[in-house]
Parts: sequence; structure tokens; C-alpha cells
Amino acid sequence: MIELPDVERMIESIAGYTTGKTISTILIDDPDVVELPLDIAEGHLENHAVDSVERHGRYVVLKFRSEYSLMFDMGDDGQLRLESQTAPATERTKIRLQFAAGRELRFSSDGSQGLVQAVKGDEFSDSGALESLGVDPLSEELTPERFETLASKNARLTLKGFLLNQKAIAGIGNDYADEICFQAGVRPDLKVAQLVPEQLHQLHRYLRRVLRRATLHWSAAHSDPGWLINSRDRGSSCPRCSHELKSMRVTGRKTVICPRCQRAA
Ligand SMILES: [Zn+2]
Repeated sequence: MIELPDVERMIESIAGYTTGKTISTILIDDPDVVELPLDIAEGHLENHAVDSVERHGRYVVLKFRSEYSLMFDMGDDGQLRLESQTAPATERTKIRLQFAAGRELRFSSDGSQGLVQAVKGDEFSDSGALESLGVDPLSEELTPERFETLASKNARLTLKGFLLNQKAIAGIGNDYADEICFQAGVRPDLKVAQLVPEQLHQLHRYLRRVLRRATLHWSAAHSDPGWLINSRDRGSSCPRCSHELKSMRVTGRKTVICPRCQRAA
């Protein structure tokens, strides 16, 4: 799935051009993915300016200067990017928002991945999708106490399963879940109930640190030789201790650990 740092990067690349500009035409290429009634598109989005581009967990929300917003659930491989209006739509294209200023914002994904919905007002929580969405890991809401409470509610899951549970914490995917466990020195296949308070404390700290760094300094993080994410290939060695990394499956997902740096207890 798309991870939170990827969503942040996408927003950064489109917000500057998009904000304050008026949408002239909306073209829906895949009605299976785009739930946007014609009367809302024509009456409340077309000929209205985009007020802001925001992230809510792993969702991107385009707020319009009308009472409507467009909400994008990125699915596993969704992509929002600016294109020329003359670039032809592809099989992946789901919706195109054309600006009077000349370019277009395009949402693409594979197959029926992702979801685009119109939402009225600020009532994102009423729209179903966001209602079940967990706490944003970079928000001030995710205090150490909140993290502990969430952990105790997910005590029967593996640590990896807990970190990937979007209804607990939104926006962590496979690679960053492994990175967080590696940096915190905890095995992802442990049950949450087995973790001691000190481990939970470390996990909370590194969760914030890893995601913040990946968001603010993506290139630096993705070339840091001390990061597991850069050594995930088969047979690679641990960036800290040079011991051979181990690949295993936890909660059905490919998981990479260092058996030496990540201890069972
Ligand atoms: Zn190691």
C-alpha cells in the first residue's frame, strides 16, 4: 500500500500549482472508482477554485471553495500528479481535473484500486471511509499514552499486524513497519501482549522519528546506509552489525529483520 511519506510527497508536488486555481472541467474515466454524481461535479466543483490540499491519514483531500471536497483513497498504488491536458488518458487514469490555467490533476491507479468520493463540508468523519481510519501517526494526537492504549486494544496481534492496522494507526505500510521495528530493536513477530513498557516506549519514539524523517527528508532517508529500508534485498547484511538479514512472513507480509539487533525480549 501507499505509505504516509509517499502521500506527503505527492501533496507537496501538487499543492503549489493546485491551490487557489479554478477547475474548468472534470473528466471521469473510471466510474467504478470515482463516486461523483454529475450534479455535484457540475454544480459544486467545476468553476470553483481549490482552497487547499490536505492529508488525513493516508487520504488526500482536495477542499474546494464551495461546500464540497474531493477525497482520494490512494489504495495500494494510487497516484496524483499534474499533467498536460494534451497527454492522453491511459488504462490507469481514473479522473482528470482540468484547470483553467492549463494543466490537469490526474488520479491514476491499477485496476479498481483506490476510491474518489465527493464529501460535503467538513464532515469527513460522516463519509464512512475516514470514520474507521486510525490516528494520524504524525499528529499530536499520537501521544505515548494513546499509543499504549491502542497497543492494549490490539494485544492479540503481532507487533507488525498492529502497526499495519489502519484502524489503529493510519498510513504505515510494509516497509516502514519493518523500519520502525528495526530502529526500535524489537522483533515484529512478537505478540503485542508480550511487549514490555520500555519496548512500547521505544516503538512510539521510533515510529514518529522514522515517519517524520521519511516525510521531511525522503531522499536522505532513502540513501542512509543505517536504514534497513535500503538493505531489504535477499541476502543483504544488517546496516548496523553486518549479520545476515532474515526474510520471513509475518501476518502474511514479507518481513525483513536482523536476528541479532532485534531481540525476542
Ligand atoms: Zn544487526
